[in-house]
Amino acid sequence: MMATTHALWGMMLALPVLAVAPEFAPIAFVAGLVGGATPDLDLYTGHRKTLHFPVYATVATIPALAAALVAPSPVTVALAVGLAGAALHAIADVFGGGLELRPWEGRSDRAVYSHYHGRWIRPRRLVRYDGAPEDLLLAVYAGIPVIVIADGFVGAVALSLVVVSGGYAVVRKPLAGVAERLVRLLPTALLPYVPTRYRGT
Ligand SMILES: [Zn+2]
Repeated sequence: MMATTHALWGMMLALPVLAVAPEFAPIAFVAGLVGGATPDLDLYTGHRKTLHFPVYATVATIPALAAALVAPSPVTVALAVGLAGAALHAIADVFGGGLELRPWEGRSDRAVYSHYHGRWIRPRRLVRYDGAPEDLLLAVYAGIPVIVIADGFVGAVALSLVVVSGGYAVVRKPLAGVAERLVRLLPTALLPYVPTRYRGT
């Protein structure tokens, strides 16, 4: 799934905070966005393994949520929403495509690495690839309530993420070929630093 979809779903997790404790809403939206998007920072170093924790992040969310409910503060609320966003991200990736440049071809059996199980979880492909129409639909689904309910700035950020998602969805398939061609132009010495799926192997 697109990083922007994950970011928007993270922001959507902050909506209950806006409803029950609006004073913590700004930090909750930031935490949701950061928590939702951060796992994909591992794109260049063990993508969907280094920062993706489908089991551990989910387990860690439970005490964090309890702490936020018992002792609400900017720190506990941010931690709870951020962890929930990161957990949702890792779990959602299981339902996406595999770890390959053209996930719509369905060749990879790797969706997300589970550190708890010590193995890769296979992709369920309900969202066939990042930037697929169904991925964009998920981004819009999470974006609309945030845009409508949240205040001006947060709503504007969410709207921007939806727009970027739409743009990415349009260019996603041609982009795969462009990326491969660009990588072919790189000096051999740089290839080890390029993610495997771009090397055409
Ligand atoms: Zn991811």
